[in-house]
Amino acid sequence: MTSTTTTKAGRTAHGAPAPHDGFDTIYVDGTWRAGGTGRYGEDLNPWDGASVTRVALANTDDVQEALESARTAQRDWAKTSPAERAAVLRRAAEILAAREEEVVGWLVREVGSTTGKAKIEFAVVRAGLYEAAGMAHHVTGQILPSDVPGKENRVYRVPLGVIAVISPWNFPLNLTNRSVAPAIAVGNAVVLKPSEDSPVTGGLLLAKVFEEAGLPAGVLQVITHSREDAAVIGDYLTTSDIPRLVSFTGSTKVGEGITRKAGIKRLALELGGNAPIVVLADADLDQAVDGAVFTSYVHQGQICMSGNRLIVEAPVYDEFVRRFVAKVKTLPVGDPSDPSTFIGPVINKRQLDGILDKLDRARKSGAKEVLGGQPAGPSGLTLPPHVILGDAATPTAAEEVFGPVITIIRAEDEADALRLANDTEYGLSSAVFTGDLDRGAQFALQIEAGMTHVNDATVEDEPHMPFGGEKSSGLGRFGGQWAVEEFTTVHWISVQRAPRHYLG
Ligand code: NAD
Repeated sequence: MTSTTTTKAGRTAHGAPAPHDGFDTIYVDGTWRAGGTGRYGEDLNPWDGASVTRVALANTDDVQEALESARTAQRDWAKTSPAERAAVLRRAAEILAAREEEVVGWLVREVGSTTGKAKIEFAVVRAGLYEAAGMAHHVTGQILPSDVPGKENRVYRVPLGVIAVISPWNFPLNLTNRSVAPAIAVGNAVVLKPSEDSPVTGGLLLAKVFEEAGLPAGVLQVITHSREDAAVIGDYLTTSDIPRLVSFTGSTKVGEGITRKAGIKRLALELGGNAPIVVLADADLDQAVDGAVFTSYVHQGQICMSGNRLIVEAPVYDEFVRRFVAKVKTLPVGDPSDPSTFIGPVINKRQLDGILDKLDRARKSGAKEVLGGQPAGPSGLTLPPHVILGDAATPTAAEEVFGPVITIIRAEDEADALRLANDTEYGLSSAVFTGDLDRGAQFALQIEAGMTHVNDATVEDEPHMPFGGEKSSGLGRFGGQWAVEEFTTVHWISVQRAPRHYLG
């Protein structure tokens, strides 16, 4: 079946390209077609529950076909010049820029992004495409000495081959693109499985942009599926011997399953988080309040880097809580398409139930809810911001909430604050607010995490910086030179220039 897309087909009255359509397909071997099940699902807008598109439901035969097609396409793609690959990525960035309104609209409709969050995501993705374009020319090798007379040792850095990318729904376009763009830039092909909650923004829309940018058929494939089939399709993809790397972003639970099942292949795992925001007594409290409010509630707290625990040193605890709660009360809650809204709906009923369960257990544990409220909005998925005063054992502090909830914990002193910050199985992002920048940097170094920001939010992403976590938050790093390493391997080639004498 061919595509119904309007790709390359004219412009709207405002001069913007005609919006892409035809999202009720999977994308295999350069063809937009129905899934092997012949069935369709519905992709629902979390704000009002309306269907935003039908979704084609794939089966494992589709995955196999995509993997084989990717394997074939990769051989030719790896032979293209870096300039050719970079040009495709730069064109993709330009196409995306011309489609900003369309892309932002999809992020709002499909995953309940507020307009502000969608614009942040759009900007990160565009920057990520340019960053990846630069990677094509930065795949460096090495020449090393040899102890063997007449030998030259060379280390070539080469693409891995086929990469399986599995992405989540929360920052779908960015969390997909940050694997897909570098992988393609350095000569790999990708089979992409977006989340069942974001088939368009986590996959098909990006594939349309890359197709429009001239990416050859087969270099990127997109498989969409039902919620019930997520594990079947995911398992098939991760256990196949065709992908040389599984680049997975999602929950620690699914990530652990992948480590058990994947067999002998590389894994890049970006998993859950439980970010601490530490406020030391010498901090500028207004700055700390602003940073903590933003980082705890942006995108309804559904970011792996979202502030989950706010650890405040005793001398400023009461005053901080007063100012923090006052600020949170001013956050506009409601329709994410209204540009003034800061908190929109959570993604689905399952996630909402999980958040409500943690809140319920927190109350029963004796924690104090100082700000709360019931879910509302047309779909009943819009939860107002919650503030809990608790301790390290409070369920909303001990577990990743992934919702608009923060737990504030009192620390006796700096050492206690550090102990509390590290009292978690996770180690993704973190922040410390202090009036002494050197003290902040020393404190930051002692936090067991991949990323710590002094006097700034925990939600930070710059495409040239190493993004990733420690402990149960994952393995590997995205961004800049770290992504080049992640998506390539090395090949030692030795060249024996002078004849070698082997036998005495
Ligand atoms: P999830 O683990 O439920 O789903 C992630 C992806 O895994 C989806 O595409 C899903 O379909 C797929 N999947 C489900 N079962 C699978 C299986 N057996 N094999 C392979 N894939 C399978 O996570 P989610 O609810 O989409 O996202 C929320 C979680 O992701 C949170 O824990 C959050 O912290 C984490 N996250 C981490 C990062 C990071 O960079 N570290 C970024 C965003 C989200």
